[in-house]
Amino acid sequence: NGINIAIDGPAGAGKSTVARLVAEKLGMVYIDTGAMYRAITWKVLQEGRQAEDDGQVARIARELRIRLEPSEQGQKVFADDQDITSLIREPAINQQVSTIAQHAAVREQLTLLQQQMASGKGVIMDGRDIGTKVLPDAEIKIFLTASVEERARRRFEELRTKYPDLTLEKLKEEIAQRDHTDETRKESPLTQAQDAIEVDTTGMSLSDVTARILEIAER
Ligand code: C5P
Repeated sequence: NGINIAIDGPAGAGKSTVARLVAEKLGMVYIDTGAMYRAITWKVLQEGRQAEDDGQVARIARELRIRLEPSEQGQKVFADDQDITSLIREPAINQQVSTIAQHAAVREQLTLLQQQMASGKGVIMDGRDIGTKVLPDAEIKIFLTASVEERARRRFEELRTKYPDLTLEKLKEEIAQRDHTDETRKESPLTQAQDAIEVDTTGMSLSDVTARILEIAER
C-alpha cells in the first residue's frame, strides 16, 4: 500500500526529473504518464496516420501495449516490446502529442492503465491530470510551475546539442502552444487540483525543488 504523490504542471517545469529524484529518496515507484501519451503519438506517426484521425488513433490506443520499466538511466519505455525511450523525445513527437492527448479514447485508455499501475502500491506519478482525474485521492498533490521563459531555457539546455537547428525562440513557441492545447482541451484539461500545493520553481535549482517536495511529503 502506501501513499501516492501526484505531480502536475505545464511542460518543462521539471516534473519528471524531480519526481524521479523524490521517488529514489523515498523508495517509491515513479510513473511518467507523459511518456505514455508520447508512446501512442510515436505509433500514430510511425503508421503514417494523422493526429486528428479519431478512428485510427482510438484503435492504436486500444492495441498498443505500453510498458514502463525502471533502469539505471531512468525509466525505459516500451511499445509492443520495442524500446522507444529516446524516440519519444523527438521534436516531431513534441509537436503532435498534445493533439493526440485531446482524444477521449486515448485519455480513457491511459487513465485506466495508470490507475492499474498505481493500485496497491505507493507511487509518485507525474502528468497533467493526475491530481484531478487519475489519482484524485492522492495523499500529496503538487502543482509544479515556472515562467515560460525559464521552462524553455531548461529544455533548450537539455536538447541543444542533440538538435542543432533548435532555437530558444522556437522552443518557447512550442511549449506555449502545447500548454495552451493542454489547458483548453475538453477532456481533463491541465489545471491545478483544489487541494494541490503550488511550487513555482522559477529561479530554484533542482536540488532546491527536490528538497521542497520532500519537505511537503514528509510533513
Ligand atoms: O510530460 P510530457 O511533456 O512528456 O507530456 C507530453 C504531453 O502529453 C503533454 O503536453 C500533454 O499533452 C500530454 N499529457 C496529458 N496528460 C498527462 C500527461 C501528459 O495530456 N497526464
